[in-house]
Parts: sequence; C-alpha cells; structure tokens
Amino acid sequence: MTAVVVAGSFNVDHVWRCDTLPAGGATIAGRYSTGPGGKGFNQAVAAGRAGASTTFVCALGDDAGGALARQLAGADGLSLVAEASAEPTGTAGIYVDARGRNSIVIGAGANASLSIPFVTANQSLVGSAKVLLAQLESPIETIEAALELARQNGVTTVLNAAPANAPSTISLLKLADVLTPNETEFAALLSRHVGERIEADDVAALDGATLHELCRKLSGNTVVVTLGAVGVFVSHAPERLRGDSSAYYRVAAETVQAVDTTGAGDAFNGALAASLATVADVPFAQHVRFANRYAARSTENEGAALAMPRFTPADAV
Ligand code: ATP
Repeated sequence: MTAVVVAGSFNVDHVWRCDTLPAGGATIAGRYSTGPGGKGFNQAVAAGRAGASTTFVCALGDDAGGALARQLAGADGLSLVAEASAEPTGTAGIYVDARGRNSIVIGAGANASLSIPFVTANQSLVGSAKVLLAQLESPIETIEAALELARQNGVTTVLNAAPANAPSTISLLKLADVLTPNETEFAALLSRHVGERIEADDVAALDGATLHELCRKLSGNTVVVTLGAVGVFVSHAPERLRGDSSAYYRVAAETVQAVDTTGAGDAFNGALAASLATVADVPFAQHVRFANRYAARSTENEGAALAMPRFTPADAV
C-alpha cells in the first residue's frame, strides 16, 4: 500500500551555468548539464528516500523524457502512475549565473495534460493513501479534484502552493490540511487572496503574532511557511493544534555547509509528507523538525531530485 501519493510535474531540466545571465539578443557560453526535475518528481523522490512508500501520479509524453521518468522512478523504488500525453514530456531551460541567480523557462508540455478523469480513475489509490502531496505545476482544476478526492477519503492533504506565479483560488487553498508556501509564494498568496501587500524579503523578519495573523487570513488549517536559511514558521488554527502546544512557532534551520539550495523546498515537502504518513501520534512539530533537518541535508549536495538524502524519521531519533 502506498503511504504517500504525490500528484504533480515531471520535467527534463536543461541547465546552463554561465558567468552572467544572457541579456536579450546576446549569445554567451555556458556549462551544460541535464537531469530530472519538476516539483512533483523532486518531492516524490524526497518522500521515498525519507522512508515512505510513494506513488507519483503525473503525465508524460511518449518520448525520451517519459522514458527517463520511468527509469528513474523505478530505480528509486517509486510507483509511477502516468497519464499518456500526446504532448512532449515537460521541460525546463535554466540559466544559472556565477552568483547562483537563475532565469527559468518552463515548457509544461505533458504536465498540462494531467486530467481530472485520470485522477478520478485512480480514486482507490488516492483514497487509500495516508497523505496526498500536490503542487501547482499541473492544471489547477486537476489538483483541486485530487485534493477533494483525498479529503473525501480522510487522506491528509499537503499543498505546496508553488510556483508563486501559478493561478490558485482560495477554494483550492482551503482543501489543504497543511499549506506550505515559501516566502515568495506566501507574499503572492496574501496579495492575491487577502489584499495584503508584503515584500517576500520582509516575511522572515515579521514578528510571530503578525505572521500568525496573516496565515489565519489565508487558511483555516495549518500553514507552514518555509524561510530558506532562516528555517520555518508554523501556524495552526487554534482549534486544530495537531498535537502542538502553541498555535504558532518557529523552527530554526539546521546549521549545514549549504552547497546548492535548489530543491530545498521540495525536500522539505517530501520529507514532511513522509513523516506525516509513517510516524503516528507525535506532535506536528516533530514532523516539521524532521522535514527541516532533511531539507538542510539536501542542500549539502549539488542538484535537486538526485541530491535528495536517504534519511528517515527513524534514523533521526
Ligand atoms: P526551492 O524553490 O529551491 O525548492 P524554496 O524557496 O521553496 O526552495 P526554502 O524556503 O528556500 O524553499 O527552503 C526550504 C527549507 O529548506 C527551509 O525551510 C529549511 O528547512 C531548508 N533550508 C533551505 N536553505 C537552507 C540552508 N541554507 N541551511 C539550512 N536549511 C536550509
């Protein structure tokens, strides 16, 4: 039986590391590499490597990218449930400069084909999981349907509301038992849904009571805002503390020698879902501390999916 179902995107990432990002009209030299990506796949790999039996639900093209997804999922012990798409498998073109800043172009391709009927056809899979984890790189109505299906079956839902520019609705957010934006996504959601204008860079410095109040405006459930090298902020509805003694608190980031923070958010989400699915009857803060540690460890190697550590809640005790 699958403990975690991740519904989301798979991309073939094409990465160019350059001294500077190319300006419009410019041709420059860069060091090329390619590999798997997509928030859905990264999070599925993290959940699996964090110890949960995991199924990845996605849409793939009939091409080399689709074959790569199948091969890597198999090698990692993930179950793969893929809707066949006539579109090419998703791609991302990523330029990274010497200071680590990036510019990214996403070709959603097959990811845009993940359909409600396909999710509905896999109702028993979704409904029998412990946790459904989703992001916003797939059609929003399909993600909404998956969250609804999970909710109807008592499956815990975790929604990583990423990327920040993805369309979302407050009704989608309300389907998340746990909503996990990073600072940029949090600022975007506040601006879109509650008319609060806050700079992403200012989020981590807000006092706890203010952050908690903002989280409460977004969701009647738990909100976990990831704050990069600062750590995490957790906010619960006072009537739904999930075993915690406080309605809101911070967890400081672990001290590590970070080499590459790409995919740290995906590591956090996959590990949080894995812990929620495999460790019963502990305060929510314990799941968060595990995910925080797992995400920190993921920054010690270069890369995203393939750099996810193998490290379970039992190892962490
Ligand atoms: P990405 O988009 O690259 O996947 P993100 O912006 O969604 O990342 P962050 O908020 O940057 O996610 O990071 C997620 C979590 O990873 C943090 O809450 C923290 O637990 C951990 N983390 C990130 N950067 C560091 C770091 N430099 N040191 C320790 N932990 C880190």
